[in-house]
Parts: sequence; structure tokens; C-alpha cells
Amino acid sequence: MSDVIVIGGGPAGMMAAIKAAEKGCKVTLLEKNNICGKKILITGKGRCNLTNTKSWSEFSTHIHPSANFLKPAFFNFSNAATIDYFNSIGLPTTVEQGERVFPRSMRAADVPAVLVERMEKLGVEIICSSHVLNVSYSDALFHCLCSRSDSLRGERMDMVKYSAPVLIIATGGLSYPGTGSTGDGYEFAKSLDHSVTETFPSLTALMPRKYDTDLVGIELKNVGLSLFIDMDLIKIEDGDLTFTSNGIEGALGFRLSRRAVLALMNGQRVELVLDLKPALSLEKLRARISRDLERMGVTAANVGRNRFRTLLRGLMPAALVDPFQHHHPDLSLSNLPDKLKEWRFEIKSYTGYERAVVTAGGIPQKEIIAKTMASKKQPNLYFAGEILDIDGDTGGYNLQVAFSTGALAGQSAAQQILKLKSL
Ligand SMILES: Cc1cc2nc3c(=O)[nH]c(=O)nc-3n(C[C@H](O)[C@H](O)[C@H](O)COP(=O)(O)OP(=O)(O)OC[C@H]3O[C@@H](n4cnc5c(N)ncnc54)[C@H](O)[C@@H]3O)c2cc1C
Repeated sequence: MSDVIVIGGGPAGMMAAIKAAEKGCKVTLLEKNNICGKKILITGKGRCNLTNTKSWSEFSTHIHPSANFLKPAFFNFSNAATIDYFNSIGLPTTVEQGERVFPRSMRAADVPAVLVERMEKLGVEIICSSHVLNVSYSDALFHCLCSRSDSLRGERMDMVKYSAPVLIIATGGLSYPGTGSTGDGYEFAKSLDHSVTETFPSLTALMPRKYDTDLVGIELKNVGLSLFIDMDLIKIEDGDLTFTSNGIEGALGFRLSRRAVLALMNGQRVELVLDLKPALSLEKLRARISRDLERMGVTAANVGRNRFRTLLRGLMPAALVDPFQHHHPDLSLSNLPDKLKEWRFEIKSYTGYERAVVTAGGIPQKEIIAKTMASKKQPNLYFAGEILDIDGDTGGYNLQVAFSTGALAGQSAAQQILKLKSL
């Protein structure tokens, strides 16, 4: 029998299994997919942004709902430690703009590959195609009932029960359920006396009430985006955004989506205001447009349709000119600077878990000991990763949460095993 069972072979579960095994534990990892780390394959657009090098004071501002909970796990296995660790197990890394860290190979698949290799070296029993159906606790053991399928033929084969004195649940959230994250762990946690804070999709697309389909596919660099809720300004961010068939997304849209989704769930009015010229004040933009007009030899009286469009092409990507004009039927030379600085989108809905990057909500922070990742409800039980009520912005923060909480849960589980064996 194993000392520790880990449910979930994502980044958090794999790191937990590795750290427990490094401390001498006999570990079994149960994963319902036929491979570990299926979600990692699609991270960072197939390149896997595995962490971010920002110092804690900055890093922590990208963690929600409260970064304090993550602090002990982060300082136990920090972003720097994560990079060193991956380098030491055969994954060289590189740092890109925004302090984002990627495998030097730029292949996300290399991340689960080195983690699986490390687990195999440490003797972790990796049991894929093993879907845990329920978890129970009796006679000082956790029992995980699994349906095991033939990984080659995908056929249901049999029901198997695995038992161990210590359990780590790292089953992820609800986002991109095709990768295996279908919220099973919430039910396991509930059956072990935990509650679950309401979950909602975060880092997701926001759909405007009026949305011109000719916007779809346009990417904007270095623009500003402000979030208004019930007419109050909540947040202003700068960066890049993308218009897709799901609405406004990209790094900039995602950064505001968490707060926007919460407001929409509460029935509040949500508006995004796009600033196409964030580097220029309204006065400076007016002066710039006047100079452009002078150079073109154009006045308000003789501007005409074609020259107005030439002016617009100098102020925005060519593909944006038509949708910008459609969206502002009253557009004129005099109100152009205001419209460039304030393109309003009332948001009517958001994309659900099927395409949300992370799940916010989960196992409440107050039910977990932050210094160990141990349950306060059930002895010898630990949690790690996205199943917890903790989520980050885009930029490598979520995988770092998974690695830090996974490492701490694995180390703490190993310490607990030592304690149990010495009794
Ligand atoms: C498209 C996309 C891109 C992303 N890009 C990035 C990025 O570049 N950088 C970043 O930091 N974050 C990124 N993220 C977020 C990041 O991938 C997740 O936060 C992270 O994978 C969470 O790790 P986890 O181990 O907690 O959960 P998961 O990765 O969800 O792993 C949970 C595992 O548990 C298994 N499991 C679930 N239930 C059971 C069960 N009943 N029995 C057995 N096994 C079970 C699942 O099959 C899964 O393998 C991205 C997410 C998406 C969807």
C-alpha cells in the first residue's frame, strides 16, 4: 500500500507527487486521462508560460481573492525555485516580455514530459486512465474508488479501490473540461466535510451587447481598457486585446474579466471603455489630429469621406476603420478625439467554463492551513492547485500557484507520513 495517494495528474498533482516521493514516500498518482498534464499541452498557446519572475510584492497583486494565503507556499517553492527546479530536471527556460517564463524549446509538451520522467525516476506509481469516482475515509485510511479503462482501447475495464493513510486532492477546477478538469474534486471535498466557495469562470471573453462581427479577428496592441460597474470606474489597464467571435479577450480583456464576470453574476451593469490612444491625453490627441489635418491640407469644411478615412487609417489599424465608423454613426472631425479615447462597450455576457482559462472559487482558503496545505476539516488530507479558492491573472501566475501549492502539499504530506509512522 502507498503512503500517499494523489488524485489528479495536472501540474499541482505531479509536483505534489514528486515532492512527497523526494522525501521518501511511496506515492500513487491517479489520473483519469490516459496521460498526465493534458491541460499543460494547451497552456501559453502551446508554449506554456510556466511562471513569472516578478518579486512577491508585484507577483502577489496578480493573485485573487487573497494572495496572503499563497505566501507560505510561494516562499517555500518560489518562482525562482521553480525555474531552478525545471532547469535541474532537464528543462531549460527563457524569460520573455512581462517577465513571463517559458521552456527554451517553446514546447509546452516538454513540461509534463520532464515531470513524468522525474516521477518515474522517483518510483511514483502513475496510474492513468483511472477515474476516481468517490473518496471515503475509514480505519485511518482514505479509499479512492476508481473506474479503470484500457488506455489503448478506451474501454471500461474494472473498478479498483486504492487506499492510503494520506490523500492529496489536486483535481483542478472546471475550465476546459475536455482536459479532465470537471470539478470532481469539489464533490470529494464535500464528502470529507469541506464546503466549496461558489465557482465562476475567470480569464474569459466578455461579449458586448452590440458587437459588430467585422471586429472579429482584430488584435490591438498597447491600448487602454477601463472597467465600469454600475457607472463606477473600477480599474484601468493597458496592454493588448483581441476581438474574437466570443467578444473581447486577449491579455487585457482577461485581466478585467474576473471582476466583470462577478458583476454580471450580480446583475450589475458592466461597461468596458476602450482607449485607442492611451499614451496621449485628450489635448495632445487633439493637437496631433490638427497636425495630421494640416499636413494633409484638410479643413473641417473640405475633409470629405475619403480624406476622413485616410486620417482614421493614420490613427488606428486599417482593419479597425470600418468597425470604428459603424460603431460611431455620429462620428465627425470634432468628436473624433473623444471617440478614440472612449469607445464604450456595454457587456451582456461572458464565456463559460468551456473556454475560460481558470476557475475562480473552490475550496475556501479558511478551511486550509496555508503553511502546509492541510485540511482543517479532515486529518491527513491535503489540497493543491486550482481546486483551491485561488486564481491568478494571465502571465504564468496560475501554474506557479499549482507548483507552489503542489510542492508544499507534497512535502507536508511526507512529513505527516513520518509522524504517522513514528506513532
Ligand atoms: C487554454 C489555457 C491556457 C493556459 N495557459 C496558462 C499559462 O500559460 N500559464 C499559466 O500559469 N496558467 C495557464 N493556464 C492555467 C493553468 O493551466 C491551470 O491553472 C493549471 O493547469 C491548474 O493546475 P491543476 O493541477 O490544479 O489542475 P489541472 O491542470 O486542471 O489538472 C487536474 C487533473 O486532475 C485530473 N482529474 C480530475 N478529476 C479526476 C478524477 N475524478 N480522477 C482522476 N483524475 C482526475 C484531470 O484529468 C487533470 O489532469 C491555462 C489554462 C488554459 C485552459
